[in-house]
Parts: sequence; structure tokens; C-alpha cells
Amino acid sequence: MNVYDSEKLRSILLNKGYSLTERPEKADVIVLNTCCVREHAETRALGRLAQLSQYKQKNPEVILAMVGCIAQRLGERLFEKTPYLDLVLGTSQIFNLPEYLENKIKLANVSLTDSQTIFTDFLPKRKNRYTSFVAISRGCNNFCSYCIVPYVRGPERHRKLEDILREVQLLTESRCLEVMLVGQNVNSYKDKNFDFPDLLQRVNDQTDIKRIRFMTSHPKDLSLKLIEKMAELSKMCEHLHLPLQSGSSKILKKMNRGYSSEDYLDIIKNAKLKIKNLSVTTDLIVGFPSERQDDFEKTLEMVKEIEFDSSFMFRYSEREGTEAAKFEDDVPEKEKLRRLKILIELQKQISLNKNKKLIGKKEEILIDGRSKRDKKSWKGKSKGNKTVIIRDGPDDFLQRNLLGKIVSVKIVDCDSWTLFGEFEK
Ligand code: SF4
Repeated sequence: MNVYDSEKLRSILLNKGYSLTERPEKADVIVLNTCCVREHAETRALGRLAQLSQYKQKNPEVILAMVGCIAQRLGERLFEKTPYLDLVLGTSQIFNLPEYLENKIKLANVSLTDSQTIFTDFLPKRKNRYTSFVAISRGCNNFCSYCIVPYVRGPERHRKLEDILREVQLLTESRCLEVMLVGQNVNSYKDKNFDFPDLLQRVNDQTDIKRIRFMTSHPKDLSLKLIEKMAELSKMCEHLHLPLQSGSSKILKKMNRGYSSEDYLDIIKNAKLKIKNLSVTTDLIVGFPSERQDDFEKTLEMVKEIEFDSSFMFRYSEREGTEAAKFEDDVPEKEKLRRLKILIELQKQISLNKNKKLIGKKEEILIDGRSKRDKKSWKGKSKGNKTVIIRDGPDDFLQRNLLGKIVSVKIVDCDSWTLFGEFEK
């Protein structure tokens, strides 16, 4: 969501006549868009702000702005941390940045709004033009006990279906092939009588986009109708990112997630049954308050049983202002790290085994660039959301431009996180 917001903001500023510079010392305006979902992200952003304030010190005409989640969370307190800061704009205010820049007044505005202006119609200005995010909702009503998002992004607000369809179609006109529909909880999307599966149907039928993905799903709101739509719609990618967080129902309850590990398992079994070649990824937290060894083992059991294709794995860190911050953070840091290491090792092995099963198979890959490590190879994503590196034949290098093409590739090798392929002759 933050990447998408930055892309939109860039687009709005360019439209107002600003131009981009890669060199902060040349900038008249410096904008730092921020995420505070983890403490580490916040610490880094504040460090970056301190670093950027040197340009304001050297040239008082420079306008230094901090926007997004940290701005929302800390508001005017940021002026105490960095006196050189001019503007602090919360998550509902960032798209009004040009007006604030014109006014040239030092201020903080973190009021949350429910108007549709939080969904600007400006097309995101993307670095990679072949895939794009499209916001369908903002905010969250779930209040998982560890999460800061509902406090900094505000309540759930849904974008109008017609506006989403228009943005997707406009993106296709600038050669975008794949959209990721994003929201904190896409499954609870509603516009009049349309729900999320209806939205997918419309994007599938009424736009020229080639591939559709979405993120993030909440297990408690994932309907049978959604699974059936995923199985049925031709443009849907066979990938489901479904955060589990813990394999222990006791911990899930404490996290206020609204489902048990059994509920989660049922959803996955059903989804795998109905959606051919489904790739499932997840988010996991270890060391949540009161997580005992047996709770952790339940997480390991779930990971083994489901065989996630990959996972984002974290150790719990307290976020000030959340419900969980009131719990005793009673798993020692060393123990959190130990559990995380075991979990990562397990996932790494499972990912490798799953990838090995794809060797010899054909995958449809959207090529989005050259490999960073080997400029003679192309890089792309499979429908299952796996990164695939494809080596050109010796005669092909630089002779054909495959950027933005969807091609058939035979998988010939893999490691835990990457597949390696050859073009089909
Ligand atoms: S669903 Fe839970 S984890 Fe996800 S954004 Fe909302 S509160 Fe945070």
C-alpha cells in the first residue's frame, strides 16, 4: 500500500509541474512516505528523516515533508524530533500535498477522512510499467491485537467499483498486464450490492488486463464464493496469500484474529481442492506474548501440513498503542530468535521441495526485467507468484525484447526462493 501511495503521490506532483530528481541536494521538496507496521521500519524512517534534514539545514528554502503512517502516528510530536520538518501529513492527507506545498505553512494534519478523495484518480507512476497495484479499499476494522494499522490507516473505506474498473482499464492502455488489487482486507470489500468476488468477476470480464492478483486476504472473511471465483476466472493468478500468523488457536484468539487453526486448515484444503496448481503463501509471527513451546510447535505442524510455497516470517515486536502492548512481552528475545530460525529453516526446506516439483513443467511467465545478478537473463513472475530467472540462448541476447511479454518457460532448476527456466522452443 505504501509503494502504491508513493507512486500515486509521484504522479500527482508530476502533474502539478514538479519534476523528479534522484539527488536530494538538488531538491526543492523532499517527501518521505513512511510505514510503521514494524518498529524496525519506524526506526529506519526516523533515521532517514534525520539524515535528510541536512539538506534543509543547508538550504532553508527546501520543504521537508513526512507523510504516511508514521506521520499519522506521531503527528506534531515529529516537530520535536526534527525541528527542520515543515509538513506532517497523515494517511488521509497525503494526496493533498500540492496544496500544502503552495501554502508554505509549517503544519501537521493527521485528520482521517472517509471521503473518496483518499482514492485519487491519478494513475500510479510506476517504475515497472507491466504490473501495478490498484487500491480497492483503505483502512481496517479488525484490530488484530498486535497491529497498528487500524490506528494509523483509520476505518475501512471502500473504493467505488466503477473507479476501480476505470483505473485498471487505463493501466492496460499504458501496457500494464497485471494488477494487484490491494487493501488491508480485500475480502470484506463492498460497494452497494457488489462484494469482492463480484469485483474480481468485473475486472476479469470488463477490462483488458491479462492477470489479476490481490492482497491481503483475511481468513475470517474468505468466502466459498471467492474460492469458486478464483477457480473459474481465466485471468486470476493461482496464488493465495493468506496470513496465518500462528498455528495455535490459543494464540490466534489472543491475537484477535477471529478464526482457529482448524478453520484456517479447512479454507486451505478447500482452496487447494478447487483451484488447480494453487500456490499458498502466508505471514507468521513467533514469540507472541504467552506463546509457549507447544504453541510454537503447532505453528510448525501447520507449516508442515499446509506446505506453504513461501512465508513472511517475523518475531513479535511490540507496537506502542496496540492491545498486545498491554500484554507482558514474556518470550525472551533469544527464544524468539531461536524459534524464528527453526521456522525459517523449515520453510526453506518446504519451499525447495515444492519448487523441485516444478522442474520439467511449463510455466507462464510475465517478463518484467533483466536479472540483477546476470544481465544476460530475463526475470519474471509465474502465475503462482514465483520469481523465475530465464536464460537467453547465446544468439538471443539483446536481439529480442521480451520486456512486458507473457511467455511459456520450461523450469529446469531451482533453489528455495527462485525458479530457473528456459524458453520453450
Ligand atoms: S487485518 Fe489485522 S493484521 Fe491486517 S491490517 Fe487489519 S488489524 Fe492489521
